Amino acid sequence: MEDSQKIHILSRELISVFDELEQETKEVVLEHIHDCSECKQLFNELADGSYPMLERSEEVEIKPLKKLVQFNHGLKWLFISIRALILFYILFSSFHFYNWELSADAALEYIKSVTFMFYFPVAIFLTVFTMIFFTKRWITLSILFDLGIIFFLDTFMSIFY
Ligand SMILES: [Zn+2]
Repeated sequence: MEDSQKIHILSRELISVFDELEQETKEVVLEHIHDCSECKQLFNELADGSYPMLERSEEVEIKPLKKLVQFNHGLKWLFISIRALILFYILFSSFHFYNWELSADAALEYIKSVTFMFYFPVAIFLTVFTMIFFTKRWITLSILFDLGIIFFLDTFMSIFY
């Protein structure tokens, strides 16, 4: 089998999970799409959100990969929800326990310590899983977000009070 034929076969499979690919892989696929009308059509159909009609045998082959992508999407939302829940709890409890008008400093101190005790360990735990399952882009994004929360959440809140 020729190399171009091999790339064609790989591209057809990768196009269905294009969003999840590393930048370098995307470029390889796009380069192939440029010269291959069959893959170009498949790519355009997927970009439109309408899935192409697949032969039955192809459908069976692609399924595990699609399952994995769905699993990844679910996991992403789960990780985002866990962070959102903890942040909500930290902020909600700070408003519940402290009078921001009278003791903003104490409330900020509380936010700082709860973030460190609660959010920090969870963030480390989630980051380990992020490193296992997700692309570099997501790992970087989530680490930056977590660092921002851990170091600057109290500063951010102090802007308002
Ligand atoms: Zn092709």
